[in-house]
Amino acid sequence: MNIHEYQAKQVLREYGVPVPRGEPAFSVEEAEAAAKSLGGPVWVVKAQIHAGGRGKAGGVKVVKSIDDVKAEAKRLLGSTLVTHQTGPAGKEVGRVYIEEGAAIDKEFYLSLLVDRETSRIAFVISTEGGMNIEEVAHDTPEKILTFSIDPVANICPYHVRKAAKALGFEEAQPKQLSALLTNLHKAFVDKDMSLLEVNPLILTKSGDLVCLDAKVSFDDNALFRHPLIARLRDESEEDEKEIEASKYDLNYITLDGTIGCMVNGAGLAMATMDIIKLYGESPANFLDVGGGATKEKVTAAFKIITADPNVKGILVNIFGGIMRCDVIAEGVVAAVKEVGLKVPLVVRLEGTNVEQGKKIIGESGLDVVSADDLDDAAQKIVKAVQGKAA
Ligand code: GDP
Ligand code: MN
Repeated sequence: MNIHEYQAKQVLREYGVPVPRGEPAFSVEEAEAAAKSLGGPVWVVKAQIHAGGRGKAGGVKVVKSIDDVKAEAKRLLGSTLVTHQTGPAGKEVGRVYIEEGAAIDKEFYLSLLVDRETSRIAFVISTEGGMNIEEVAHDTPEKILTFSIDPVANICPYHVRKAAKALGFEEAQPKQLSALLTNLHKAFVDKDMSLLEVNPLILTKSGDLVCLDAKVSFDDNALFRHPLIARLRDESEEDEKEIEASKYDLNYITLDGTIGCMVNGAGLAMATMDIIKLYGESPANFLDVGGGATKEKVTAAFKIITADPNVKGILVNIFGGIMRCDVIAEGVVAAVKEVGLKVPLVVRLEGTNVEQGKKIIGESGLDVVSADDLDDAAQKIVKAVQGKAA
């Protein structure tokens, strides 16, 4: 789960991490009130969307009067911001963050993430702040320092020395840096974060380290431990189909292809997506209905797939182990009866109660193409989508 910058900064503030003072605003009036209570003389008006690259897209404005705060808030609220991270459709701005301005001397990059190679939390640090870190990693990898943290020893003095050296710090900052690394790491572990990115971390003209931007993602599987964090969820930032899927506990992710997939088991779902690609089309989604799916769950899944206008064909690929093929068949038939079927549907069933499953579909009167194995199924749905006879 992702949260907004202002929410991330609030979480970090509770851990003693230096962030500028600021207040969120959902209207121009709130923006004005926030600016007045912060007091100026410089304010920053920042669009709050779950995507970076706002600065370059006009979503971050430094202003010097309350009138300009109001004008920028008015311009941003309700507008659609297109950044290199939003995709061409952009994201609608529903709230802005009004922050006190900071006098920047230098900008750095700092992030924490879960490093799967070392199975530890790793820091990524660079002098190239405010930049796209993927580009820095590609063009000038020597400017990036990474190190991982031993979960028993936590942050040690040598981590701080390494980071200070990489950032070119001398006297006063290492002490601040030590506290910063320790507190960020503590927040990351305590709150089960999966990513914490500060870009830029700045050195102010008065010599202080401040986190000027903050992006935080949480591990969904640990959210039950953090009810206050879970409440920060902003559903308007999320894919509607994914929200609907999460209500039924379906593992669903929207993709940009044309073939809707309903599969059980993540491995089989991956294989199904691969073979669709192999035969020249792309999956419209990843969907693992899970092992013990009920008819209601299957119906919900099928409805989510058919509601997607990008879906030009559907491939149901089920290996019945714990899952029973007749349950899948019943779910598919029930869903089609409810919402209709406007695109070709190929079904491949194998495993427990396969004969019953095939019988249910056969007797349903639905226009279903059945397939014998995965290879056959993939070729049939690709042909059908491409308008050739299956
Ligand atoms: P992003 O573009 O979505 O990553 O948004 P950021 O929060 O990182 O802001 C983009 C850029 O705006 C930063 O890299 C800074 O250069 C600039 N910026 C943000 N806040 C301030 C501020 O208080 N003062 C000044 N002078 N610049 C700021
Ligand atoms: Mn940023």
